[in-house]
Amino acid sequence: MTSQGLLLRGGLVGGERRDIAMRDGRIARIAPSVEAAGYDALDVTDKLVLPGFVETHIHPDKAFIADRTQGLRPGGPTPQVLVAELKKAFTVDDIYRRARRALELAVRHGTTTMRAHVEIDAFVELRGVEALRRLQRDLAGALDLRLIAFAQEGIFHDGVTQDLLREALKSGLGALGGCPYMDRDQRAHIDWFFETAREFGVPLDFHADSGDDPAFLTADYIAAQTIKHGMHGRVTLGHVGMLDVLEPAHRARIIAQLHDARIHVISLPATELHVKGRADATRTWRGVTRLGELRAAGVNVAISTNNIVNPFTPYGHPDLLRQALVAAMAAHLGNLDQLPWVAEMFTTNAARAIALDDYGLVEGAAADVVVLDARDVAQAITEQVEKLYVIKRGRVVARNTRTSELFLAR
Ligand SMILES: [Zn+2]
Repeated sequence: MTSQGLLLRGGLVGGERRDIAMRDGRIARIAPSVEAAGYDALDVTDKLVLPGFVETHIHPDKAFIADRTQGLRPGGPTPQVLVAELKKAFTVDDIYRRARRALELAVRHGTTTMRAHVEIDAFVELRGVEALRRLQRDLAGALDLRLIAFAQEGIFHDGVTQDLLREALKSGLGALGGCPYMDRDQRAHIDWFFETAREFGVPLDFHADSGDDPAFLTADYIAAQTIKHGMHGRVTLGHVGMLDVLEPAHRARIIAQLHDARIHVISLPATELHVKGRADATRTWRGVTRLGELRAAGVNVAISTNNIVNPFTPYGHPDLLRQALVAAMAAHLGNLDQLPWVAEMFTTNAARAIALDDYGLVEGAAADVVVLDARDVAQAITEQVEKLYVIKRGRVVARNTRTSELFLAR
């Protein structure tokens, strides 16, 4: 027996007015007109329809803690130091409550799939894993939540982190995340992650090359290791702001290496703008990676939210349409011919970065869809329009309305 399906009538798909029929969690049909019998119909005439948004790099376990500590200030502690201190007091319930708030906001703003980092170290041990696994189950119908076992504090400062990461992978976490700049020997750190990823058969996600001193560059070494270990297409790098300060010829070589290794680059523009360039006496560095050059060279690029209301990004908010506007502003991507591919960075490109199969507005794909109050992507980003419907596996999981009244006549 098949259940009642859902029919979106008259939405704009790639600029054309289309009906989208969904049944049993899949897109059954996309056509100029679909017979409505057997479907619940929603009229979305001339509203932009995009595939469900995909967060590829986000930290729900340390969301909403900005009010527990100070913000960044000249000569003050780094955000890593501030958050490490707070983490010691995190309980499972505390993490669950804060992360749930972040996830609910993400769903409300159109995210249907998320790959989140969960910190594992001597301070928080496996409490974040426990909280996020509970959320995976509790929100299963609304959000596909995938988890990365993430070593925010490095792996060579204590005797427990490596074992805890392995334990998390054994319990089923689907990806492994490193942070080379947190250890003195970055290459030894990277080596451990490749060996462990191969042992468990999981993809890798590095926080990499976040600073502005080219002496610490790791992208070239990570690309070489990716090729050596045959992990093409299964490695992602977050941040990579250092690319921006390399000489153009050097940068082109690194970008070519990333391309050869089929490494995915995930930019986190809201965090870069808050954290980077703080020591510059003149011309404050934006810290955002070269998204345009990477894309032109054929590298898969995505954008994501990263931090939410903590010292890394006190104004962080899991709304990918907002990150699109921030990226457009920060990375010279605001021309009308560029904005459509800015949206690809949190939809199709993001899906590719985390190997989501059955994704997109095509028949047979998962029925994960967002309907926006705009006629095209440029308007959606520029006006930060409302996401009218968020649909997960053919079911409406969020409906949003925004009203305004103008009183222009005297
Ligand atoms: Zn991050």
